[in-house]
Amino acid sequence: MKGIALRKIPVAVVTGGARGIGLAIAEWFLTHGHRVVLLDIDRRQLAKTARALGDSARVMAVGCDVSNAKQVKSAVSRVVKGFGRIDALINNAGIAVFKPVLETSLKEWTQVLSTNLSGPFICTQACVPVMLRSGGGSIVNIASISGLRASALRVAYGTSKAGLIHLTKQLAAELGTVGIRVNCVAPGPVETAMAKLVHTAAIRRDYHDSIPLNRYGTMEEIADAVGHLCSPAASYVNGQTLAVDGGFDATGIGLPTLRRNAGAKGRR
Ligand code: NDP
Repeated sequence: MKGIALRKIPVAVVTGGARGIGLAIAEWFLTHGHRVVLLDIDRRQLAKTARALGDSARVMAVGCDVSNAKQVKSAVSRVVKGFGRIDALINNAGIAVFKPVLETSLKEWTQVLSTNLSGPFICTQACVPVMLRSGGGSIVNIASISGLRASALRVAYGTSKAGLIHLTKQLAAELGTVGIRVNCVAPGPVETAMAKLVHTAAIRRDYHDSIPLNRYGTMEEIADAVGHLCSPAASYVNGQTLAVDGGFDATGIGLPTLRRNAGAKGRR
């Protein structure tokens, strides 16, 4: 495709896009006709992923720590130089520390908050002026069920994600007036490579018990929700958090017992 035609193709910036959910989101945008920028702190994985995607005209990979304003500014300058526009920003990069409150160090707390909450703030500040030049766009923040419901060992992670849910509303209130919609996706447990590796059988059983759909989500299901929120089909959706969690957030106490009882009645 010729340069001028290429420059009209919308651009989605996905942080933490080198692997996992971020990569699935990037693939959704590629499949739906966008160009994609992957921003990630893991430069080695980033290079590997960019090679595997094998589409240098439509994929740009930029090494960058989202919690470092200077690095983000320089990354966005590279995007402007290479791709000329930004239409969607997906604040997906996130880290987790799962420890009890008294064992969570101030350093760990600060790292989690810096990546999961300051990162989206910094990236939004850097990308919005570019988005405005081509008439607006859409931002989606990736929070978590842990930002909606509290749980043991998630004092830093859960608080950072709850903050991100509120940041979404703050940004929606301000940026909606200039043509940028801001929404949030809160995934339940997702079947990533990491989850396959670290979730024990007991943890899996607990999750299945708490989720009406009785399973983990897939990375593609999260990507579909993000893509929908960025698409014209969601043109009047702003400031919302969509839990993509099989009904986890909707349920109350006693689900496993009630489900067993319902099953027994159904068989009668
Ligand atoms: P992964 O850890 O698989 O991928 C995240 C990517 O982001 C990694 O490449 C990571 O690099 C990178 N990253 C971490 N810190 C930074 C930073 N400061 N700047 C730029 N890139 C960074 O995560 P998942 O795909 O599992 O999760 C993606 C998002 O979804 C996260 O925000 C997570 O909290 C959220 N989520 C995930 C769930 C799940 O079940 N997986 C459930 C609910 C929410 P490195 O490997 O070097 O850290």
